[in-house]
Amino acid sequence: MPDNEQDNSNQTAKSDFIRQIVVDDLNTNKWNGRVHTRFPPEPNGYLHIGHAKSICLNFGIAAEFGGKCNLRFDDTNPEKEEQEYVNSIEEDVRWLGWDWEDRLFFASDYFEKMYEYAVQLVKAGRAYVCDLTAEQTREYRGTLSMPGKDSPWRNRSIEENLDLFTRMRKGEFPDGSRTLRAKVDMAHPNFNMRDPVMYRILHASHHRTGDNWCIYPMYDWAHGIEDSVEGITHSICTLEFENHRPLYDWFLDQLGVYHPQQIEFARLNLTYTVMSKRKLLKLVQDGLVDGWDDPRMPTISGMRRRGYSPASIRNFCKIIGINKFNSTIDFALLEHCVREDLNKTSPRVMAILRPLKVIIDNYPDGQVEQMDAVNNPEDPSAGTRKVPFSKELYIEQEDFMEVPPKKFFRLAPGREVRLRYAYFITCTSVVKDSSGKVVELHCTYDPATRGGDAPDGRKVKATLHWVSAAHSLPTQVRLYDHLFTKENPDDVPEGADFKANLNPNSQQLLTDCRVEPTLAKASPLGRYQFERLGYFCLDADSRDGKLVFNRTASLVDTWAKIQKSQNKD
Ligand code: ATP
Ligand code: MG
Repeated sequence: MPDNEQDNSNQTAKSDFIRQIVVDDLNTNKWNGRVHTRFPPEPNGYLHIGHAKSICLNFGIAAEFGGKCNLRFDDTNPEKEEQEYVNSIEEDVRWLGWDWEDRLFFASDYFEKMYEYAVQLVKAGRAYVCDLTAEQTREYRGTLSMPGKDSPWRNRSIEENLDLFTRMRKGEFPDGSRTLRAKVDMAHPNFNMRDPVMYRILHASHHRTGDNWCIYPMYDWAHGIEDSVEGITHSICTLEFENHRPLYDWFLDQLGVYHPQQIEFARLNLTYTVMSKRKLLKLVQDGLVDGWDDPRMPTISGMRRRGYSPASIRNFCKIIGINKFNSTIDFALLEHCVREDLNKTSPRVMAILRPLKVIIDNYPDGQVEQMDAVNNPEDPSAGTRKVPFSKELYIEQEDFMEVPPKKFFRLAPGREVRLRYAYFITCTSVVKDSSGKVVELHCTYDPATRGGDAPDGRKVKATLHWVSAAHSLPTQVRLYDHLFTKENPDDVPEGADFKANLNPNSQQLLTDCRVEPTLAKASPLGRYQFERLGYFCLDADSRDGKLVFNRTASLVDTWAKIQKSQNKD
């Protein structure tokens, strides 16, 4: 397993209404003590954080109750589905830390079974071949206030239906010319029950079945059969499917087969992001992001590349819980979970994003000292490391001001500060370029303060991070902001779409950064805290000594701040 870390959270899954149903069913022995769930993605895009909620729920319940969870691809829509998506979904579920063992299934493996079941319904007079066009079918369906009208083809004989359906399968008819429909009730108050389409004709190649089929099952027809065949006990889906449940039940009852229970929960929505695969695909296709795994994307692969840990995503899913009402979660809560985990687990290092050269005039030329630096104050077992110190250093440009305002306590002419793990230094003079910009500082150091403390007890008001100029490694760093400027990206003026709310400043590339030499050993996706700057992760594409770090999160926990201010009120 590539990255299945310890769950650092102290949160255990809270019970919720779905877990309560599972407990009740175990108590009444409804499923003979079995708990069997599934995660059923359609391979038409990469998984996003909303899917993570569903994954953690389905695999989580199975794990907690000694049950099983299947990974099942709902691949009934050949035009939009691809093997690339299948591969990415498997990788993402595994990376999140879940294991489907030998239970990897594809809806397309059941196409023959579904066809047999459809024939069974035709023979029972419960399904018919309909020649209405898509548009006519819509017209006949009626409205919320008006019942639908029966299709003129509704009362075809069973023989004729069998003949036509067989020929549909054989490929005798063009796309869209006929459908197989369930014979339910055109006056039903629930639209989904007004003779829903079960099969459509589509001469399209499928990523698994090739050209074997030219009729494809519709979601509602297929899904219940998939659940039934696999012996699922609790078929968990999102709220939009609540009014599809009567149809799910109708199909399985008509077939008289094993019948799981469908249960709906509210999908995850997050501020400052979109969560529909259709919209995410649009961003990728239009080149508005750098692929599905762009670190700004709400995809699992984007978050992995951004430096989020699987444990933090699982913990987030636990904290938000499961309920029946749609709501939108603050993105800051997700980042809070990421910070909490990274704070415990990520090694500290020193890095400079915008270097300013510092020359220690009284430090011996050519001398190098190895300073002891703590790897993780949250984890003593992480130990210490050596960081080289020399006459020429870099500090952060923003840690120096020639004319410091009142509350600026960092370096300024004549002022003494501490260099972390090293010495006290005092700025003695500045060097400027022709435009008047400060490009170099001259300082002196106090050899008695080695390690960062003055034996005479004198204090300084600031501690700066630094790197040795000669020893540090050049790197690029990408800083990120929200992908959208609005909490709700779909909030747009008439005629515009969500892309109008894209944040033009969601990515900033810094090309002239420096990191301490220990990072030569960093492995792709390795996560670090750059002291005072935030959490960073080595980009997956860093290779051949060319380093690129992505900022995972800043150190400022806006969620914790919100909570604090709310507790004060
Ligand atoms: P999208 O609307 O993003 O295209 P989808 O529902 O079409 O997603 P599927 O591949 O069908 O995507 O989803 C697989 C499973 O994940 C389904 O059970 C679905 O209910 C669940 N799921 C999808 N989006 C969310 C979400 N935002 N929150 C929780 N569960 C979700
Ligand atoms: Mg779907």
